[in-house]
Amino acid sequence: MEYCVRSLPLITFLQWVPDPIVMEFLVFMKKLLIALDYDGTYTEDPKLWDAFIALATKLGHRVICCTMRYEDTEGDEVKDLLRGKVERIFFTGRKNKTESLSAHEVFPDIWIDDAPHWIFQDAL
Ligand SMILES: [Mg+2]
Repeated sequence: MEYCVRSLPLITFLQWVPDPIVMEFLVFMKKLLIALDYDGTYTEDPKLWDAFIALATKLGHRVICCTMRYEDTEGDEVKDLLRGKVERIFFTGRKNKTESLSAHEVFPDIWIDDAPHWIFQDAL
């Protein structure tokens, strides 16, 4: 919705353009923040997710990794595989992902997670 408010004059102009072109343009304008899980998601097919991250980034989207692992004791593997590919890696230490990221003022548009309940629940 944020882009709609800022782009009001542009959208008014785009009313004169055929719908498929308008939709493609609006999709082009909306840059997504995508949170990718590590265990059970990235680990299931790293080549697939590497290609996804590269394409999403090329299209202007931002990809971060959000894992419930503890950074100090379990983080090295994640860093080795994802550093330089994703924008940032967040380790929540078994805390639910939405609260952990919101504490950093990070609010993903899309979550990619094999176990989506951990987005909202702590794992203690
Ligand atoms: Mg997982």
